[in-house]
This record gives sequence, structure tokens and C-alpha cells, in this order.
Amino acid sequence: MTTIVRFAPSPTGLLHVGNARTAILNYLVARKNGGKFLLRIDDTDTERSKSEYETAILDSLKWLGVSHDLFARQSERAPAHQEAAEKLKASGQLYPCYESALELDRRRQRQIASGKPPVYDRAALNLTAEDRARLEAEGKRAHWRFKLSQKKVAWKDLIRGEVEIDTAHLSDPVLIREDGRFLYTLPSVVDDIDFAITHIIRGEDHVTNTAVQIEIFEALSGSAPAFAHHPLLIGAGGEALSKRLGSLSLKLLAEDGIEPMAAASYLAKTGTSDSIVPFATMDELVAGFAMEKIGRAPAHFDPAELANLNAKLLHLLPFAAVEARLAEAQVGGAAFWEAVKANLTRFSDVKDLWPLVVGPITPVIEDAAFITAAAELLPPEPWDELSWGIWTKAVAAATGTKGKTLFHPLRLALTAREHG
Ligand code: GLU
Repeated sequence: MTTIVRFAPSPTGLLHVGNARTAILNYLVARKNGGKFLLRIDDTDTERSKSEYETAILDSLKWLGVSHDLFARQSERAPAHQEAAEKLKASGQLYPCYESALELDRRRQRQIASGKPPVYDRAALNLTAEDRARLEAEGKRAHWRFKLSQKKVAWKDLIRGEVEIDTAHLSDPVLIREDGRFLYTLPSVVDDIDFAITHIIRGEDHVTNTAVQIEIFEALSGSAPAFAHHPLLIGAGGEALSKRLGSLSLKLLAEDGIEPMAAASYLAKTGTSDSIVPFATMDELVAGFAMEKIGRAPAHFDPAELANLNAKLLHLLPFAAVEARLAEAQVGGAAFWEAVKANLTRFSDVKDLWPLVVGPITPVIEDAAFITAAAELLPPEPWDELSWGIWTKAVAAATGTKGKTLFHPLRLALTAREHG
């Protein structure tokens, strides 16, 4: 059976590191198994979904190197969702309810006050045809709930192992709002069935949804795909990232000079048993990928660690990999790249370093005698990568300086810069 996975972002914001990691894991599973990757835009929430966000998500995935084989937009699949809803209504598994949000809230408060779990009491199941007709005549419109089996739903999660959730502890979920719009739960299952998804790989914030969705899968098609729920990303200090996600969009990482493969390497490896090192290509990440390497503990996302990985990646890049970008930046070629790459934290630093090579530089000389002595000690040309060490050792020996007192005046004289 061909592996078919999907990544299903809601276009309600930019792609952030948390969902980018879900995208990468799905992508790696697809590629590793010679399968297919569906990019599905979950835009059933018409109030919050925006086409600008869809475009931004597509751009970010492209930047990251996560390409898709199939594409779907949930808003274009309404007839299929409707048909599934009718099927569930016909079998009595989807039932109409008329309680207002206020009424439901009052009931919940009463349940909590009397020490009961705040689970929907299924009062609407007792409505007769006459009750419904009366409510409709009063102008009320039904929202529709899925009747859970109230049994234990179990699955073998590819990351979490055996999971069991008793749906008796859950409220029957609302699948259709009173204005007729679908919530995410049912369209997701219908699309997963229609696109023959074999593995649903998503964050562990969806574990409870999975119990509900397995029941819907079974009601509609008799079986459910495999599931893998990965732990969520947390900050370096263990804090939840959710509040700061706005500042952790891929768009911002790109603007900050993070290389796509640094981001991809980080997100593919954080929270796994592999160490986080830079990979040059997606193919290398695919080769080293195995679902079993994904741990159960939360995965860390530390911007400082990513910046560090970015620098390491740049230091490894051969000239051929950056030739076009150097030309575009209007700086030097192979010799320049080999000379400066170990100094880079982001690629754009090349622009800053280029004037040091071609000048003009106005040397800053604070101690003329020291600099004259140093100049006289310069080894004969041609210089190579050893010349600097030979020279500075000789200057140190002749002038009795070391550390900052040695290097700082040399740097100022050669580059006119305080740091670097
Ligand atoms: N649109 C849902 C989300 O972003 C998709 C969840 C899923 O993978 O089923 O949370």
C-alpha cells in the first residue's frame, strides 16, 4: 500500500516552527517510504481563514524545501462533507441540538458545582419530532453533535505506543454549527478517507481528537489510518511556545538570515535520538530518518541553538553551493568564500566582509611604534593560511604583548573595526 500522508495547516496565521516541524516529519515519512505528501488547507473556519495566510504558508514550505505531491482546499470539498453528514444523520449518529451557548454553560457550571465532569448530558436526544418542529418554528436552528460510542477507543500510536481513551468521558462533539458551517473534525476525516491517507502524523495536542475521529472514521468507512502524535515544541527553558509563536514564524527566520537547510535540519532532529547537526540537503535528512527516533519527551526549540547551527552550516558550504548568491551579492568568488566563510553567522555577512578584502580601509592606529614594529615582522609573501599565526607569534615575541593587547591594535590597523 502506498504511504500517503498529509499536512493540514489552517490558513489563520503564518507557518511557525511548531507546525513546520509537523510538515517536515510528514514529508520525511512520505519520501522515506516512496509515498505521497498531500498539502491540505484546512479553511473551513471562514472567519479566521485568509488567502494571504495560505500564500504565506505555501511560500514558507517552499522556502523550507517541503514540496507536496497533492493539494486540496477543504472549502472546495463541501459537497463531500455534506454527503458524509447526511450519512451520519441517517444512521442517527449525528443528532440535532438546540441549546444556546449560555444554556450549555449554565449546565456545565451546575455539573462542576455538584462534582460531576462537565460532559454534555445528551438532553437533545430526548427531543421528539414535535419538540423540534416547535423549536424550529420559534426560529431556533440546530447544531449537530456526533454520538460517541462511550466505549474505550484504542490505537497503537507510532510514537506514543498503546493509547486508550474512553469516549464516555467526552462530550459528543459538535460537527456542524447552527449556521450550517462545519467545524474541523468531520471535514478532516472525510478528506482523509477520500485521499486514502495511510498515516496521520500530527502534534500530541490532537490525541483526544483522534479518539473522536477514529469513531467517525469507523462510522463512515469502517476503518481508520495509522496515527503518530509527536510531542510539541517547547522553549529552551521548558516554557510553552504557543504565546510566542508569532515571533517564531518561518518568514521571520528567513528574514533573520537562517538558511532553509539549517531550519530543516533543526526541526527534523530536535526531539529525536539523533544529534542536531547541519545537513546540506533534504535527501540526507530522508536517509537518516526513522519514526522510532522521535522521542516522547517535548522537543526543544532554542533560537540561539538554531543560529549556531546556521553558522555551522554556512561554514561547511562549498563554493559551488553559494556561487550564484555571491555573484548576486556582488562580492568575491571562490578565494573570498574560502577566506571568509568561517566568520559568517549569516550569509549576508559576506557583504560586510567584502570591503575588508577590496578596501578602501582607513586604518585606525593608536600606537604607531607598535604597528611599525609589527609591519616589519610581516613574513615574506606569498601569504597563506599559516601566515597569520607565524606573524602574530613573531609580533608577540618581539613586543611582549599577548591576547587583547596584541590582537586589538592589529585588528584596528587592518580592518578599522573593533570586533570580528
Ligand atoms: N488544521 C488542523 C490544525 O492545524 C489539522 C490537524 C490535523 O492534522 O488533523 O490543527
